[in-house]
Amino acid sequence: MRDRLFSLIDTLESQHALPLEEYAFLAGNPTDEAMKYAAEKACRIRKEIYGNSVYVRGLIEFTNICKNDCLYCGIRRSNHHCSRYRLTRKDILSCCEAGYQLGFRTFVLQGGEDRYWTDEVLIPLLQNIKERYPDCAITLSIGERSKESYQKLFDAGAERYLLRHETTDAAHYEKLHPKDLSLSNRMHCLWNLKGIGYQTGCGFMVGSPFQTPETLAMDLKFIEEFSPDMCGIGPFIPHKETPFKNQKAGSLKETLWLLSLIRLIVPHVLLPATTALSTIHPQGREMGILAGANVVMPNLSPVSVRKNYELYNNKSCTDEESAECLNSLKKRIKAIGYQVATDRGDVNRD
Ligand code: SAM
Repeated sequence: MRDRLFSLIDTLESQHALPLEEYAFLAGNPTDEAMKYAAEKACRIRKEIYGNSVYVRGLIEFTNICKNDCLYCGIRRSNHHCSRYRLTRKDILSCCEAGYQLGFRTFVLQGGEDRYWTDEVLIPLLQNIKERYPDCAITLSIGERSKESYQKLFDAGAERYLLRHETTDAAHYEKLHPKDLSLSNRMHCLWNLKGIGYQTGCGFMVGSPFQTPETLAMDLKFIEEFSPDMCGIGPFIPHKETPFKNQKAGSLKETLWLLSLIRLIVPHVLLPATTALSTIHPQGREMGILAGANVVMPNLSPVSVRKNYELYNNKSCTDEESAECLNSLKKRIKAIGYQVATDRGDVNRD
């Protein structure tokens, strides 16, 4: 088994592709030795493209109102215990100003699928942010919309879009989502975003209910074929007000393993060490970077609403997660041999 694992990692490093069954074998066998081997290669390959830089993005969770009812998510429509909020345009602009002063050059506007944010409402906001901060990139993460809407938001100044595909297996997708959401529409959205010219990010939760090495293999194959600019993966963590409240959380080990494999599949990918990862382990961010990640997304949302954007229980909202503590984050990243880069940090496909 050891030889097969090592040889598959070598092939991934040189060819960035594997057959589905080999991905399933890798996904199901994260041995300590293989993880170390893959992480070393992942870090080497990332260093060739991005040096020692770790990019920071200021995350603005601007609404937790959502029309969807995803079974895993704490802000799902049916959670009546969730205290709902929606930031105003003024609030969002103040978050950007605070972030800009702290040195952020990317703002990630993330939220539930809140019907209030039509194109007509979002466009002037995006234009306003671009006028004030022409040297900054805007990333949107607001779910599924029409191609026309994505195009209008792109024309208004959004350049990047994060839309996790969640799983590439249609039967698995159905077990995680209500009937009105489909894998085919999710994929359609992702290809539309890419076609329009967004730097596009897909991704999934590690250890989501009903995930298997075979569904993970399909995810890795999709990532190989889609070649995303960004890829967000983090452990699934149950939320007590969802149907998945008694399900097991995803593991640190499996998440780190998949981060390394994804880096080997798509060398140029911008790969975050997510908040969910630091929620399950206090050194999660550092461990993620040492496995091949190169992005961190501190929270720029107003302190008063941070607890309410509760996708899962015990979400890490410590000082270390917040944008105000950029200096301490810088120190921690330096301590593991990397440095925080505060430029826009675009994808490098050269
Ligand atoms: N509404 C947008 C969308 O659907 O893309 C963006 C917000 S959504 C809450 C962001 C991501 O949070 C989802 O893509 C999902 O992978 C992740 N998420 C939701 N519930 C989670 C949980 N219980 N554990 C870990 N991650 C979760």
